[in-house]
Amino acid sequence: MPQTKRIITILGATGSIGQSTLDVVAQHPELYSVFAVSGASQIDKLLEIGQQFQPKIIVVLDEVRAKQVRDGLQALALDIEVQVGEQALIDIAIAPEVDTVMASIVGAAGMPATLAAAQAGKRVLLANKETLVLAGQIFMDVVSQSGAQLLPIDSEHNAIYQSLPIGFREQPYGSSFVEAGIEKLLLTASGGPFRSHTLAQLEQITPAQAIKHPNWSMGKKISVDSASLMNKGLEVIEAHWLFNAPIDRIDVVVHPQSVIHSMVQYCDGSVMAQLGSPDMRTPIAYGLAYPERISAGVKLLDLFAIARLDFEAPDHQRFPCLGLAYAAIREGGAAPAILNAANEVAVAAFLAEQIRFTQIPQLIESTLMAKAGLASGSLDELLAADHQARTHAQALVAKWRTAIAC
Ligand code: NAD
Ligand code: MG
Repeated sequence: MPQTKRIITILGATGSIGQSTLDVVAQHPELYSVFAVSGASQIDKLLEIGQQFQPKIIVVLDEVRAKQVRDGLQALALDIEVQVGEQALIDIAIAPEVDTVMASIVGAAGMPATLAAAQAGKRVLLANKETLVLAGQIFMDVVSQSGAQLLPIDSEHNAIYQSLPIGFREQPYGSSFVEAGIEKLLLTASGGPFRSHTLAQLEQITPAQAIKHPNWSMGKKISVDSASLMNKGLEVIEAHWLFNAPIDRIDVVVHPQSVIHSMVQYCDGSVMAQLGSPDMRTPIAYGLAYPERISAGVKLLDLFAIARLDFEAPDHQRFPCLGLAYAAIREGGAAPAILNAANEVAVAAFLAEQIRFTQIPQLIESTLMAKAGLASGSLDELLAADHQARTHAQALVAKWRTAIAC
């Protein structure tokens, strides 16, 4: 049981990961208190958080929502400061009172505050994988320079973290795979809701079908990413940076039951795995309490009820997003940032019924080809690449919509 109380900022507290984090925190009031939270919308949830956790600060993105939250807090007689905008997200991530930051904003929008938390040397609980896809090298450099403690929350990376030797997982850039005796990282993938669909069936997928994941309950963007296998592609890139892993030593294994959350294969033939119910409160509790363990309210695994575990290779033809991600990280430079930005535009367009599910990889591939070779040396250059990729992808969406309408 941890001895000292941790003071936490939760970036993206109204989302799926944010709510699971608050659930774990609520189970251990003697161990954790919430200093600040943010949310882009969902005023009701922010007010509920205000009542239950009494943070000092709530951050929203615009003045309209800030007024709604302030009015709501006043009606509840709660004395909580409301701040607005991107700089406020950074401020609550680096506040001196805070030792732990849950980075659970979705998309590249989460990057600046996540990076700021790392720069300030916090314990960073990293759910926002897009930060590593957009600016992996810069983020990992900042972590090693600042002494921030980085704990992966993505279930696969958390499983790998738990399956790695302590010395290597805490200092992956201080040694190498060969020195640690590691052969491969085996990233498991559920395969998503359309694992057995034909290409013709994939053409007809609706947003409502895509956001219904068979095993996990998650936000809309990551649910679509899971259905297209882009989530696994982003996770390959995430694993590459988190664990200093050569790309050809990261394999994806489709495992429909989502019981094994990922594995590490060693040179002596051993394979270490982490298993558990598909519930994000496990990796969140692990990150909050590391290196101790705390209860998470998670249903314990019943192997007799599960009875069997299946494994298969991913199908790159029906799910081209995975291959696009491998290609982007192999190319390096700005390619992963472009991939991520184009994917965000594609997923938003699909959810708005502007493009078909099967056009998601097409949009990403066209954007990668059109924007190849953009500069990537600095954060500003990566952000410029992200911006250019979005503009290009949005123009393509508009063009394709017109073509469909004709
Ligand atoms: P979600 O959509 O449920 O929540 C996203 C949160 O970010 C919300 O609080 C929302 O208000 C906030 N937000 C949205 N747009 C924003 C913006 N432009 N600026 C600031 N805040 C904004 O998403 P989620 O499923 O909780 O996922 C969050 C992150 O965690 C993602 O990067 C996702 O890939 C990662 N992740 C999620 C899961 C999961 O099980 N949900 C698992 C692994 C990793
Ligand atoms: Mg994952």
